Amino acid sequence: MLIDPFERHVSYLRVSVTDRCDFRCVYCMSEHMTFLPKAELLSLEELDRLCSAFISLGVKKLRVSGGEPLVRRGIMTLFKSLGRHLDSGALEELTLTTNGSQLARYANELVDYGVRRVNVSLDTLDEANFVATTRWGKYDKVMAGIEAAQAAGLRVKINTVALNGVNDGEIEDLVRWCGEKDMDLTFIETMPMGEIDGDRSEQYLPLTQVRARMAETWTLDENDYDSGGPARYVTLRETGQRVGFITPLSHNFCESCNRVRLTCTGTLYMCLGQEDAADLRAPLRASEDDAAVIAAIHEAITRKPKGHDFIIDRSHLGPAVQRHMSVTGG
Ligand code: SAM
Ligand code: SF4
Repeated sequence: MLIDPFERHVSYLRVSVTDRCDFRCVYCMSEHMTFLPKAELLSLEELDRLCSAFISLGVKKLRVSGGEPLVRRGIMTLFKSLGRHLDSGALEELTLTTNGSQLARYANELVDYGVRRVNVSLDTLDEANFVATTRWGKYDKVMAGIEAAQAAGLRVKINTVALNGVNDGEIEDLVRWCGEKDMDLTFIETMPMGEIDGDRSEQYLPLTQVRARMAETWTLDENDYDSGGPARYVTLRETGQRVGFITPLSHNFCESCNRVRLTCTGTLYMCLGQEDAADLRAPLRASEDDAAVIAAIHEAITRKPKGHDFIIDRSHLGPAVQRHMSVTGG
């Protein structure tokens, strides 16, 4: 079992399998990114070995993310091999966060390998707005991907980053659209991670404002549903729909944090909002035996910090941490 110094049980691993992406969302990346040389990446076999080490230490939930995880060549072999831990019962859930662009191609295979739920990031339903926000995204492909995922039997949750001047006028539409399609929806506050081309203080839309806007249309009943993550939920009394809010800035939720994040080069971040990290690649490559890597994981967990301290305002214009969200997968 992995227990940190604050008695939190680490049972959730997020893995960024690539820092590359076929989109350039304005809050996530700058348009001209320098990505890691491919030679520095762990192979899919090495990623499997690391994930399996975490599972042997009690990790029950594993989320594959990125960059865009579905653009990594051969990525289905990783899902296929990790699926064995679902079969054995050691792993309870294998999931994916994706921008949806490749879902039409992979939805059926994901189901074959044991994936039951996917998070699809979608910030707007307006095609022109979508292109402006993702820069390189193809709206129709994402919509087709969501449809294919549902047709394949995957439960889809939409993640929407609340953004001033992008989707602040679309909150009701997004909620209604998800309700009609029977998809859960979670709003997320933008976090100050990595250099982007724009000004984050202009993008930042506190979710208190999103809630206030929703409350003009629906009665929001507090809901004690606990997905095991940072989201807090309300139920819309009129429709019964559940909507989540992830508020790393306006309300910090670190006391219940159960997760750590692994990058595609084998670096483990114990907190999304801190720079401290542990290198697992060297112990992984040092021997075929997992003893050294397991010792390194235990040592890293002793350094899991109490929490993050994100701030976005006019006096904090730079990122709180230098790496982009795509390095750790969100
Ligand atoms: N490319 C995939 C996607 O977009 O779903 C997976 C990786 S992406 C980094 C994971 C999540 O992080 C997405 O929901 C995205 O909207 C969110 N994200 C990216 N940068 C963010 C930021 N600076 N603040 C808050 N959320 C961010
Ligand atoms: Fe790519 Fe996801 Fe970042 Fe958008 S949010 S640029 S889709 S990694």
